[in-house]
Amino acid sequence: MKKVNLTIDGQSVTVPEGYSVIQAAKELGIEIPALCYDPNLEVVSACRLCLVEIEGSRKLETSCSVKVREGMVVNTETEKVVNARKNILQLLLDSHPNDCLTCQKAGECLLQKYAYRYDVKFRKHDGAVRPKLMDTSSPYILKDNSKCILCGKCVRTCNQIDDRKVLSFAERGYETKIVLDADQTFETSKCISCNRCVTVCPVGALVDKRLMGKVRTWDAEVKTVNCKVCQYGCEFEVLSKNKKKVAVRAKSPANGRPLCLKGRLTTELTQLENPDKPYRKIGNKFVESSWSKTLGLADIMEKIEKIENTKKDND
Ligand code: SF4
Ligand code: SF4
Ligand code: SF4
Repeated sequence: MKKVNLTIDGQSVTVPEGYSVIQAAKELGIEIPALCYDPNLEVVSACRLCLVEIEGSRKLETSCSVKVREGMVVNTETEKVVNARKNILQLLLDSHPNDCLTCQKAGECLLQKYAYRYDVKFRKHDGAVRPKLMDTSSPYILKDNSKCILCGKCVRTCNQIDDRKVLSFAERGYETKIVLDADQTFETSKCISCNRCVTVCPVGALVDKRLMGKVRTWDAEVKTVNCKVCQYGCEFEVLSKNKKKVAVRAKSPANGRPLCLKGRLTTELTQLENPDKPYRKIGNKFVESSWSKTLGLADIMEKIEKIENTKKDND
């Protein structure tokens, strides 16, 4: 593969042709901030936080979309770049609830991280604030549109799996929001609670409800385990607090890995001493259920019992 030499923040790097500037910077250990970029997803350059200065270009460029070129000279933290990032972050914070103290995402929220990095704060203003439109219908996911920064990662992630495609953008301008099946809830839509969208949301707009009130990641010991239910072996994280395993959550999905509720619940059942009750979606309702029914084991267990009883009778 052809290689390209370039300079980023005064350091030389050689990367394969076709790399974007953000990928090349990563090779040098330089983290260019980005909210909508994910190496597993289509590049959309929506948040514009990854702006950089490229010598020879008059305007700032989004480093997620610009490909490396031979001899390119890039600067990622000039005054112009930093000011542009501060403005973007300030606009986001201006329409965002000041809820970091109790937000489930605190400690791993990218908006919080970058606001701290660039010293941007919540401030009082008379302008519009995103309304609190919560979807509490699911026992597995809480959606809080007031915290959504419209990065679209959830939409692109859900759309990666052919038979899902539940999430999309609706409305326009400041009213833009993320909806399920043209404005359904998690309960009434065809969402299957795989939690792929939750794993990629950079803020607390989509959170795993089964973690809430138990532990936040910065306060937990986190161990990655592989699911044993099917050949994909998706990765889940087991979160422990005070040496006790308290929750399981889906880890970021790699491209092509489906993630599913059955795998996550099976991992909960095998890893946690005291897992919460499981729920199944029956019609358009989430219904509390038994583990054997939720995991589809009831029929198998009945059959095993029948076979074992017949065997006993024949002995
Ligand atoms: S989503 Fe992030 S910035 Fe918003 S309240 Fe939660 S932790 Fe704070
Ligand atoms: S949980 Fe899965 S199916 Fe449901 S909206 Fe998220 S990614 Fe799509
Ligand atoms: S819900 Fe999360 S992932 Fe989806 S657009 Fe909003 S901030 Fe991005």
